[in-house]
Amino acid sequence: MANENYKFDTLKVRGGYKPEDHNYSVAVPIYQTAAYDLGSPDRADNLFLGNEEGFLYTRVNNPTVDVLEKRVAALDGAVAGIALAAGMAAIAYTILNIAEGGGRILSSAYIYGAASDSFKKIYPKFGIYFDLSRNFENLIELEKEIKPDTKAIYVESISNPNGALVDIEALAELAHKHGIPLVVDNTFATPYLFNPIKHGADIVVYSATKALNGHGNVIAGLVLESGNFNWDSEKFPQFQEKHYTLRDEQDKPRSFAEKFPDFPFTTRIRLNYLNYLGASISPFDAYLILLGIETLSERIQKQVSNTIKVIEYLEKNEHVEWIKYPSLKTSPYYELSEKYFPRGTGSVLSFGFLGSLEKIKEFIETVNIFSYHANVGDARSLIINSPRTTHSELTPDEQNYAKIEPNLIRLSIGLEDPDDLIADLDQAFKQVFKEA
Ligand SMILES: *Cc1c(COP(=O)(O)O)cnc(C)c1O
Repeated sequence: MANENYKFDTLKVRGGYKPEDHNYSVAVPIYQTAAYDLGSPDRADNLFLGNEEGFLYTRVNNPTVDVLEKRVAALDGAVAGIALAAGMAAIAYTILNIAEGGGRILSSAYIYGAASDSFKKIYPKFGIYFDLSRNFENLIELEKEIKPDTKAIYVESISNPNGALVDIEALAELAHKHGIPLVVDNTFATPYLFNPIKHGADIVVYSATKALNGHGNVIAGLVLESGNFNWDSEKFPQFQEKHYTLRDEQDKPRSFAEKFPDFPFTTRIRLNYLNYLGASISPFDAYLILLGIETLSERIQKQVSNTIKVIEYLEKNEHVEWIKYPSLKTSPYYELSEKYFPRGTGSVLSFGFLGSLEKIKEFIETVNIFSYHANVGDARSLIINSPRTTHSELTPDEQNYAKIEPNLIRLSIGLEDPDDLIADLDQAFKQVFKEA
């Protein structure tokens, strides 16, 4: 068994897995089963009461998925994690678990398009309202936006698509001063570049679809918890409600906070939201992500180095108006990148294309290597015009508010040879501007 004190690169191939519990299989086996034999009525009693650990039904847990949850928790310094069928499910169950019954969430305006669109369209119908703020760089102003019914602060550690960074430690301090958790979507960074929990975050969400898996062949998400936040408070009465299903040996109903004091948050997602709303990840997809994570460090290192080479090329190109990448010396986030991201700020950059929207279309059609689709963190390099695709749910005013310029092109840099990537961009610029 990997001792959780091992370093990152050891945990990424061994964390959360004991071969002796799985017929000494070296690779994590795929448990392609819907259910598990209960063994005996006595064992069934213990399993259903949660007095014995074990597997019941793959909607709620599965041995392959369990290794993924434990491995990512180990990589991020979390006490527990839960894997789900999509990053959007991870966000949804997190928001509902925090604010069910009503309340507000104070979120950065600089977030993934589908997240901000869901905040606007879905949750208000369930009594959960979002304040999308541009004050995450000015915490004195941000504090004024915390209302009596604000139940969490929500932010992306590296924002999609603009690469905005925030001072996570100061933000965590602000949240805790108000008795609310800090939720961080760490999708772009992955645990290799940044561990939000080690800097005070309470909940981390991932789209594992992106760089964590890294091969563009799975849709999945995860939620992790720090174990440090006190959910046993009047602000979160759902953690204090007593349930017969959580009863003690004297049949006395208990709350999630009482029965699972170490990791009430992800356990409550599992037993309520995952159990009753579904969105379970398949064991095979969990296996693919485990495989992806085995090379996480190596992939991200190369992708960061490729990204910097592509940026160096773009900086010299006269058709590039600006480049957004947080660790550039010219970026407003440079100092934060130095403080929080010693290994780099990931493989996604955006740039302003100096040319008409027609020329942008032509450019996208003229690149040969870059795939044109809505994903990031893939082993293959990707190009996309975010304002008309990944962030097209936003109205022009909303795009302006989120600082997404109409001429923004987003690149996600993969594992190809950087010289080929640069040559590809170069031939496309030359062809579009008739310089060839
Ligand atoms: C893609 C993405 C999501 C949503 O994840 P899915 O796995 O596609 O559901 C959430 N947050 C960020 C930052 C993303 O890039």
